[in-house]
Amino acid sequence: MHAVGIVAAAGSGLRLGAEQPKALVLLGGRPLVRWAVDALRAGGVTDVIVVVPGGQRAAFAAALPADVRLVDGGATRTASVRAGLAAADPGADVVLVHDAARPLTPPEVVFRVLAALEAGAPAVVPVLPVVDTTVVVDEDGVITEAVARTPLRRVQTPQGFDRATLAAAYDRLADGAELTDDAAVVRAAGIPVATVDGDERAAKVTTAHDLTLAELQVRT
Ligand code: C5P
Repeated sequence: MHAVGIVAAAGSGLRLGAEQPKALVLLGGRPLVRWAVDALRAGGVTDVIVVVPGGQRAAFAAALPADVRLVDGGATRTASVRAGLAAADPGADVVLVHDAARPLTPPEVVFRVLAALEAGAPAVVPVLPVVDTTVVVDEDGVITEAVARTPLRRVQTPQGFDRATLAAAYDRLADGAELTDDAAVVRAAGIPVATVDGDERAAKVTTAHDLTLAELQVRT
């Protein structure tokens, strides 16, 4: 099974308060994007495309192994993944789309995603249960509803897809559509999305606090 990895790394990182693109922020001395690429490779996905912010190719090339392909991203994550997918080998069987912002994803998560695809799932995402009581609030912050948490899951990456299925789903998606992950794109095309166990270590680095936690993780 030929798998291609697409690492979405074209975000700005404004919420992290960094001066540079978030994917280049260092964690344990290595850029986040390098960790994300290494995570896919440790899981057996060697053919990797990284989607980078416009004008940043040189900086990303310096941060990554020479055999990683770089593609310019777009204004939204949806546009960035669309660009990465267009560059993926059309002969590939499956595609794993991963966030550069999830640097410490263990290889086991990649293995589980690949195994589900191998078993015939057209789309699969790693998920974790919701452990906190979860509520809906109105515009004043007053609780209007408590949500039963048993069926709720938090969705992580890498998300795996049959390549042709994901490409067809992106083709069907309206140009300006902005979805927060690729599972939403295939679900919009009516494709069922399976789940496998995620891992707390695959948490997304969004805030400075998340980066501090990730630093503790790499030190232990
Ligand atoms: O903004 P968010 O946290 O959802 O970003 C998730 C991932 O998508 C990050 O790794 C980020 O670099 C990537 N992204 C992108 N292109 C954008 C916006 C975000 O590749 N325009």
